[in-house]
Amino acid sequence: MENCIFCKIIAGEIPSPRLYEDDKMIVIRDIEPKAKLHYLCIPKTHFALLSEMDEARAEVVKYCFEKIPQLASELGLQDGYRIIINQGENGGQTVHHLHIHLLGGEVLGGF
Ligand code: 5GP
Ligand code: ZN
Repeated sequence: MENCIFCKIIAGEIPSPRLYEDDKMIVIRDIEPKAKLHYLCIPKTHFALLSEMDEARAEVVKYCFEKIPQLASELGLQDGYRIIINQGENGGQTVHHLHIHLLGGEVLGGF
């Protein structure tokens, strides 16, 4: 997708070290961490919102949610973590390519 920063990262056009990568997703560090550890799990399929879900996209999101707990220890998240998916303007979404925030490495404050 043109002008999508995460598509550019996935394509290698913008360098960003990958902590994990397979054919469906990548995990990178957030450039502006909001916790001691802050990762982004980014499906390689471009779409912005959960409301745009179809069967193929749902498969990829399901895959991410299966993979994240398997990766937790190697990412330093063995003591727990918080998952956030920002949706749309009111949700604070700034990159319109669906992604899952993983926050941890410390005890996080409540909402
Ligand atoms: P959103 O606000 O859309 O839920 O999350 C977008 C996140 O992407 C933000 O936390 C922001 O810091 C992060 N981000 C934006 N541009 C880049 C980038 O070029 N590299 C990395 N690693 N993170 C980015
Ligand atoms: Zn994209």
